[in-house]
Amino acid sequence: MITQSSHLLQKPVWQAALSQAVRNPQELLELTGLDNHPQIASEATRRQFPLRVPRSYIARMKKGDPNDPLFRQVFPLHAEDQISPGFNTDPVGDLAAMPAPGVLQKYTGRVLLVATGACAIHCRYCFRRHFPYGDHNPAQEHWKRALQYIAQNQSIREVILSGGDPLTLADNRLAELAQTLATISHVKRLRIHTRLPVVLPERVDHHLLQWLEGTSLQKVVVIHANHVNELDDRVAAALNDLSRAGCRLFNQTVLLRGINDKVSALSDLSEGLFDTGVLPYYLHLLDKVQGAAHFEVDIITAQRLHRTLRARLPGYLVPLLVQEQAGAPSKLPRS
Ligand SMILES: *Cc1c(COP(=O)(O)O)cnc(C)c1O
Ligand code: SF4
Repeated sequence: MITQSSHLLQKPVWQAALSQAVRNPQELLELTGLDNHPQIASEATRRQFPLRVPRSYIARMKKGDPNDPLFRQVFPLHAEDQISPGFNTDPVGDLAAMPAPGVLQKYTGRVLLVATGACAIHCRYCFRRHFPYGDHNPAQEHWKRALQYIAQNQSIREVILSGGDPLTLADNRLAELAQTLATISHVKRLRIHTRLPVVLPERVDHHLLQWLEGTSLQKVVVIHANHVNELDDRVAAALNDLSRAGCRLFNQTVLLRGINDKVSALSDLSEGLFDTGVLPYYLHLLDKVQGAAHFEVDIITAQRLHRTLRARLPGYLVPLLVQEQAGAPSKLPRS
């Protein structure tokens, strides 16, 4: 029998969807009709950075196509085992930039909180795939030292929640954090870097929207989509809800070989984003993280793509082509 109280104790729908994410490569292959895929990564690689993909994301993959742009973002290929020169485990110098646990300050005026190590999806090209999250988790002590650092640095106008994916955290913790940040007078903006509205749109529920609407901070949400096939009706509805809750929406994309390294793919993505109320922000050149060399698009090709894109789209639909460089004062424009 379902009583009132057991109903209240139920996990939010998104948490159930998150816990039902596919973790077994064989199951993913079966669900996509790609049984007996030959080139899977070694067990060591898969243990270090396991497969993880929500079921609603799998539903957007084309069946029977090993080159499907969504499948390719999540399936651990044999190519990941390769050690490639110039590709390492901390490609963007994160570990050198931490003034407090989980706090990254590389740029003036904004700090990034590595709010959690957890993600709803494991993107195989991720530059944080080797990051030692367990050692740098600010949430463990309720962000106390991180908040102290922010409160003491008057130049900080914007706090960026990142990760991992900050929206894998429960809403009561996020609401509490937003509430405390709002009491720090020099902090004007809360920015959330999240892939959840794209990969697990169920996450954008009433509880999330409620605390977002309630905060006095200005709100920016930077989503992460790499291909227009990621944006289905469910995602569009989630993004629309975020807009209506007062969030400005932007998107960042990683330029990925075999996934979106065509002008048509990039321009379709920009158009699709605009249709859902999102503007393209950054197009990142791949960070050289070990295991991701097979995703790299060389700079000459990237610049050619970007030039063609500029000739094809209004300026506001052309993302900035950038690269992260350890020690630089901003993302470096590379166009
Ligand atoms: C990318 C990044 C930011 C955000 O940079 P913007 O140019 O403001 O989008 C902030 N802090 C760190 C550490 C970053 O890596
Ligand atoms: S969602 Fe972001 S942080 Fe998480 S694995 Fe993908 S790229 Fe990395």
